[in-house]
Amino acid sequence: MISHAEACALIETPPAGLDELCARAGEVRDRGRGRTVTFSAKVFVPLTTLCRDDCGYCTFRRDPGEPGARTLEPDEVVALAQAGGRLGAKEALFSLGDRPEARFAEHRAFLRRHGQRTTLGYLRAVCARVLAESPLLPHANPGLMTERDLAALREVSVSMGLMLETVSDRLLARGMAHDRAPDKVPARRLRTLELAGKLAIPFTTGLLIGIGETPRERVDTLAAIRDLHERHGHVQEVIVQNFRAKPRIPMRDHPEPSLADLLRTLAVARLMLGPDVNIQAPPNLSPAVYPRLLGAGLNDWGGISPLTLDHINPEKPWPVIPELRRATEAQGFVLRERLAIYPEFAMRPECLDEALRPRVAALLDGRGLVKDTHEHWRRW
Ligand code: SF4
Repeated sequence: MISHAEACALIETPPAGLDELCARAGEVRDRGRGRTVTFSAKVFVPLTTLCRDDCGYCTFRRDPGEPGARTLEPDEVVALAQAGGRLGAKEALFSLGDRPEARFAEHRAFLRRHGQRTTLGYLRAVCARVLAESPLLPHANPGLMTERDLAALREVSVSMGLMLETVSDRLLARGMAHDRAPDKVPARRLRTLELAGKLAIPFTTGLLIGIGETPRERVDTLAAIRDLHERHGHVQEVIVQNFRAKPRIPMRDHPEPSLADLLRTLAVARLMLGPDVNIQAPPNLSPAVYPRLLGAGLNDWGGISPLTLDHINPEKPWPVIPELRRATEAQGFVLRERLAIYPEFAMRPECLDEALRPRVAALLDGRGLVKDTHEHWRRW
């Protein structure tokens, strides 16, 4: 693994050196899981779009009353999970705003109607129903959590996540990306990640690039993730996500990071984290760049949904899969399905609540990969 100083130099690699940097990262990746690249067949569950934060780049959050402001009812979530299950999905990815009850009376009333005081309590109850009434395994991604929250959610989810995004406190300053986001104080996020490690929770985290951080701060963020993983061994996946400018967000005029920035960061992440950490970049760019992303050292494409994004036409597959499979195989890799809990963690009993172990084990082969990919997925 490379030093912090070397990483700082490499993350500014000029265009002429990019291919060599990526080749080096690719070699390190191949020493880990070899030529197997994975994805998870998931259903995206936007449990609530309300959030007490206002991140400058967020396309997800809504205020009460705005179009798209929604908190899903338990029955809606179960119906979504069952529909996904029929199409072969195995993961219910719960995404939600951070502690909306701290800001919105409407949300407090919603929670009261459901016998809950907190969104995290509501999330736990809904995850329990998904486990009981669908074949899906929850992965919870609910923002900051205390040790108690983590312990409670661990009983009803096979893995959890919290994007560290950045360790830069500068981005909390007026006019910066996290100016109005109290839950994005880096020390608070690091605390949740640390507690998850203490509880041996398989954890997904990552960085968001292009939101005003410097290249050195990207390295600092990767170093913080590496340190956490060295202490606890619980980081199952590191996502390198690139900021995208959208018309309705405060940062709509902020420049997007270039593809070269993304590739440099992916490659440096691989070189800093070594062969065994799973690295993912969301494949929601043009298919033409899949080979470049693979070439920079990733080994996972993240969650792919068999349902349409608007959930209106559940029989129509997400069109990206055939392209993804072709692009992956064309580079000499094998595409395999994994669960929300990555193979190496699924094989370690201490990483899973006892009650969930038989259900996970029944789905896996000897390598911890999904043994019987649904007919729907095999067709692609
Ligand atoms: S914490 Fe920030 S990024 Fe997450 S939902 Fe809230 S506003 Fe959006």
